[in-house]
Amino acid sequence: MEKYDVLVVGAGPAGTAVTKHIAKKGYKVLVVDSKENPGTPQKCSGLFSKNILHIAGLKKNEILCEIKGARIHSPSGEKINIRTKETQGYVVDRTIFDTRLLDEAKSAGAEIRTKTRFLKYENNIAYFSDSKPIFTKIIIGADGSNSIVAKNFGFPELEKKILGVINLYPEKPKDDIVELYLSRKTAPGLFAWKIPRKDDVEFGIGADKNTMQYFNRFLLLQNVKKKPKATTGGIIPLKWRDETVRRNCLLVGDAAGHTKATTGGGVVLSIRSAKIAAEAVCSALQKDDIAILSTYEIKWKKEIGRDLKYALLIRKFLNSLDDSEIDKLVAISSQNEVVAFLKENGDMDYPTKMIFVAIKRPKIWVPYMRFLPKIVKCILQH
Ligand SMILES: Cc1cc2nc3c(=O)[nH]c(=O)nc-3n(C[C@H](O)[C@H](O)[C@H](O)COP(=O)(O)OP(=O)(O)OC[C@H]3O[C@@H](n4cnc5c(N)ncnc54)[C@H](O)[C@@H]3O)c2cc1C
Repeated sequence: MEKYDVLVVGAGPAGTAVTKHIAKKGYKVLVVDSKENPGTPQKCSGLFSKNILHIAGLKKNEILCEIKGARIHSPSGEKINIRTKETQGYVVDRTIFDTRLLDEAKSAGAEIRTKTRFLKYENNIAYFSDSKPIFTKIIIGADGSNSIVAKNFGFPELEKKILGVINLYPEKPKDDIVELYLSRKTAPGLFAWKIPRKDDVEFGIGADKNTMQYFNRFLLLQNVKKKPKATTGGIIPLKWRDETVRRNCLLVGDAAGHTKATTGGGVVLSIRSAKIAAEAVCSALQKDDIAILSTYEIKWKKEIGRDLKYALLIRKFLNSLDDSEIDKLVAISSQNEVVAFLKENGDMDYPTKMIFVAIKRPKIWVPYMRFLPKIVKCILQH
């Protein structure tokens, strides 16, 4: 039987990032994915903040559109325009992006098996659908929100999840900003959106119930009557798992719930925490001590735990508002000082930084004090 140091299940951005870093250190790593071409079809908007540049880099052919801001729509139709001269984010072709990350893992020395579904793991032996079993010292679950690896090791279920759906329409985008629609009647639990892509416009929604029903209603409101050229989607975790290491198993990316509850985006944080996982794995292999794997959980909680917590707190607060309160929130947020502040300090991935800068500027936070009872309630329930 073939022996490996590490098996990584799932070749999405989290899986390929962790694989690359471990393989680079010379360990024998196998990454498997049930799909023939991981990343296809794209089930994600592929909107990344500019933080992606130092986390994974971007190649020219991966960028579909540079994003220069956002327009936020209130339930009653008021708008906040946050437009900047500089690029704030990128809409990326996930198929090309994921394939490049997989190629980088391969170049680092990892073995890749696609069309190979992980079935179970027992006594250090992993079993697959279309491949012989293998022996592995460590197994990493990078197999998304419905992680079979997590189930195999008896990790508790992800607590909070929503369904996200996207439709693509062939049409040259007229703008380079993202449109967000906030309303409990439009998208309870998250929001609906319109995103420009190179030759398409994407409409999407995340909702915590009856997602397709809300999506059809949103499309009607937007006067979108054409048939989309593609519809995809998937489950988005809105809360991290408290436990991400058990014995010789680690969970990364969506399998670990490393997505931001504010936007549902997970790629930047997934790649960041995958690097932390790789450090713990290499150290455990080098010292031949599986107990070292627990340093992964300690470290990701230290590095991204606070941002995940603040993102969830903001989400809980937003979800506690009815539409008339969202209208008030949008009205306050459209004041010039707040818009200028968001232009300067807005960060999709790291809300902590933004909150600490805001605290020092009473002009920014005093108007929001009308929501104090709700904010306090959310903090107490957190
Ligand atoms: C509608 C929607 C829009 C989104 N928009 C954005 C966005 O704009 N920006 C952003 O940052 N994030 C976005 N996300 C979230 C983003 O897609 C995820 O956070 C990201 O893909 C997580 O990467 P991952 O590597 O953990 O998992 P995935 O990318 O889901 O990869 C998991 C891989 O595991 C494989 N797999 C699963 N089970 C098995 C098995 N048993 N055996 C072998 N292989 C298996 C799958 O085939 C898959 O390739 C969106 C999600 C949705 C649903």
